[in-house]
Amino acid sequence: MARPDVSRAAIVSVGNELLYGQTVDTNAAWLGRVLAERGIPVVWRCTVGDVDADIVDAFDAARARADLVLVSGGLGPTPDDRTKPVIAAHLGRRLVPDEGARRDVEARFRAAGLDAVPPRSRGQYDVPEGARALRNPKGTAPGLLLEEDGCTVVLLPGVPQELRAIVEGDVFALLDGGGVTREAVRHRVVHTTGIFETRLAEVLEPRLASLPASLTRGIDLAYLPDLGGVDLRFTTRDSDVGVAGERLERLVEALEDVLGPWRFEAESGDLAEATVRALARFGRTVAVAESCTGGLIGKRLTDVAGASDVFLGGVIAYSNASKVRDLGVREDDLARHGAVSEAVACGLARGVAARFAADAGIGVTGVAGPAGGSDEKPVGTVWIAVFLDGEVEAFVAHFPGDRDSVRVRAAQAALAALHRRLLGVERR
Ligand code: AMP
Ligand code: MG
Repeated sequence: MARPDVSRAAIVSVGNELLYGQTVDTNAAWLGRVLAERGIPVVWRCTVGDVDADIVDAFDAARARADLVLVSGGLGPTPDDRTKPVIAAHLGRRLVPDEGARRDVEARFRAAGLDAVPPRSRGQYDVPEGARALRNPKGTAPGLLLEEDGCTVVLLPGVPQELRAIVEGDVFALLDGGGVTREAVRHRVVHTTGIFETRLAEVLEPRLASLPASLTRGIDLAYLPDLGGVDLRFTTRDSDVGVAGERLERLVEALEDVLGPWRFEAESGDLAEATVRALARFGRTVAVAESCTGGLIGKRLTDVAGASDVFLGGVIAYSNASKVRDLGVREDDLARHGAVSEAVACGLARGVAARFAADAGIGVTGVAGPAGGSDEKPVGTVWIAVFLDGEVEAFVAHFPGDRDSVRVRAAQAALAALHRRLLGVERR
């Protein structure tokens, strides 16, 4: 079959389990990503159950909107797998056995130690008349490719490993084969933390507007917030991947003065990774004294491979007695200012650094809730201190949300404070 000249894709996901929410539609997410990278953006998506009329409706709606339609799911040998017979009947095509598909299916069953293909699985040889079977190296349901009214249709099994293997094999070979060069979509993500989405837009938008059009033309920006911060996703398209990447880099560099105080670099997108790398780069070690975060900061730092070079240990100093006995917090500070206070956070950071002979110490003490708040220190009040190279700095934060959100935000803010102090070391 000749290479189809497609430019817009639509995806139909079929399966009752998707509608019930028992299975997350990772197939559509993955297809969206890999097709965009190939310059074929997904412009429309739809999910239906294993219901003939719904499959037909969704299929027609997809055909009306795109020149490449991918259908995921419902290609297996069981009665709930409806996609192939329903679409074949809808297009007025008979199901006919395909020699290549038969050989592949027989080989798979032989490899599994069976002499004959079970009768129920023999239907897997059948393809709609005029369709091509796509090799499935991970299972028995071949993918199917057909052309109808100028639309390229690809039917794929729902099992993610099988769908991916078919797409990465026969489908990409077809889409990538010679001819037209498409404009591929490129992204550059800048991670930020410690600044609200709206505030970020306030500093960023005027800056973007003031830059020469040559830097910003054809680049889209999305703000993607979560508990830990806001990711900025810059997106552009170019037939030359290298050129697209350079344009994104130039724009991000031009924004450095406004983003610098908030951004961090980490492949995983995790600030803990950026912090571990910064500690290693500057030859510093760290220990943590955690009260309300209960070990979350230590957990996140030790999630990063290579943490053992820089992370020496920590104490979950939850009780006042532990703060005094294990970390040398002064009883007087606890009595005068309370456990959630600047003096105690600083005592924790200093104490844990001394106790572990670390260059840096983090101290966190706060009211995670739901109980324990007061007028003076409402739920969400957290004192965070960072000790580094002999100097301690502390600040108070008021985090919104439930107990879990407060703890997650507090851990992130503490890592951000250390990360910034470390980068300050670099600028000196
Ligand atoms: P099917 O090809 O419809 O028989 O699907 C087989 C299995 O693949 C299902 O039981 C699901 O666990 C999984 N699956 C189906 N569709 C999807 C999807 N869109 N994303 C992720 N997994 C899926
Ligand atoms: Mg299914």
